[in-house]
Amino acid sequence: MPETMTVEEARELLFARVRTLDAERVPLLESLGRVLAEDALSDIDVAPFDNSAMDGFAVRAEDVAEADEDSPATLDVISHIGAGEYSEMPVGPGQAARIMTGAPVPPGADAVVMIEFTHPVTGDGSVGSTVAIERPVSAGENIRRKAEEVRAGELVLLAGEGIGAAAIGLLASTGHAEVAVYRRPRVAVISTGSELVEVAEKPGPGKIRNSNSYSIAAQVLAAGGVPLRYPIVPDEPEVTRQSFEKAAEESDFIVTSGGVSVGDFDYVKPVLEELGELVFCKVAMRPGNPQTMGSIGTVPFFGLPGNPTSTYVGFEIFVRPALRLMQGFVTLDRPRVVAKLAHDVKKKPDRRYYLRARLERGEKGFEASLAGSQSSALLTAAHRGNCLLVLPEGEKFFSAGETVECIRLDMEEGVPE
Ligand code: AMP
Ligand code: MG
Repeated sequence: MPETMTVEEARELLFARVRTLDAERVPLLESLGRVLAEDALSDIDVAPFDNSAMDGFAVRAEDVAEADEDSPATLDVISHIGAGEYSEMPVGPGQAARIMTGAPVPPGADAVVMIEFTHPVTGDGSVGSTVAIERPVSAGENIRRKAEEVRAGELVLLAGEGIGAAAIGLLASTGHAEVAVYRRPRVAVISTGSELVEVAEKPGPGKIRNSNSYSIAAQVLAAGGVPLRYPIVPDEPEVTRQSFEKAAEESDFIVTSGGVSVGDFDYVKPVLEELGELVFCKVAMRPGNPQTMGSIGTVPFFGLPGNPTSTYVGFEIFVRPALRLMQGFVTLDRPRVVAKLAHDVKKKPDRRYYLRARLERGEKGFEASLAGSQSSALLTAAHRGNCLLVLPEGEKFFSAGETVECIRLDMEEGVPE
């Protein structure tokens, strides 16, 4: 029987068995929240041309250098350029082009005066009018330069970068209707337990609903994976074996719940050993000491304990970062913050605790209070909480006011620690 692991040892062993998946080309919008698998270059200059940053008049800066409200510069309006239009008519001395935001700056003009600092002298400001310019502009003012964002042929995003909404915009403006991203892991979600019935059923005597299948599938989705929910596996070795064999063929990662304790009908570990490899089955943590890891063929296997909160926390600490690795992410852990503990907490010294807690911002920084009963059979505190309060192994008492570390479950992994 493998020995008890620390959380770090267990994570290392798991991550060592996880590989980044292959890449696939997807329509641009489907790349949101994923990792780019190849460098993205721009096919054009962005912006493609010098263009106006304002609605106003394109002028020669030297023509308006002396202008002020009392003695404005008077210019002839020779063209009217809206966004999407283009004028090759040069702006000469004493002339201006009426121009809208995003429209190409015509030849000859080197600055744009905002419409607010002008008024018509004759006409209404359209072609043929004369316009008074009430203040000077410096050359280049209110002009957005061609290729300011990126040049044709240059890198827009590097392979390995995460794709957020701004990246989607950059990829769109540089011609990427499709992009190569790492594949989402297909994750088999298997609940074991002869007491389980489907969620749509009213449980009969001795039975409970298979809630873990849904909470785990939800965690898989939230981690960027594709959950494949398998039928309930009763505590029978043959059915367990068939289910695991099927999962190893169909999925990139297998997550099970239940059946990993020392109960009389716990078949997950023996079946895993028979079909593949069992690497560890005990981690010095609470909730969820019997976290179990191995592989079947090349498919990593993680056996979460059955108690709903042990399942929830085990997924968060082990499975979520592993699924991120498979998708090419380099940041695996959510942000941590230090907070003041709101109350005394007693614990067993031989394991690390992950308490379901709520962080609030107090006058002197964050304060963390327990979000409800810490029984691993109950999920309410996990729902009400927004963090996991981490109490390290080795200690057996923490008093109110002590500084503790919290994993922020309300924030994504984006920021490296
Ligand atoms: P086990 O790890 O199989 O000993 O299960 C521990 C506890 O978790 C037992 O009370 C089970 O009834 C409960 N449990 C196991 N699987 C599930 C599940 N899929 N949904 C909800 N509770 C479960
Ligand atoms: Mg069970």
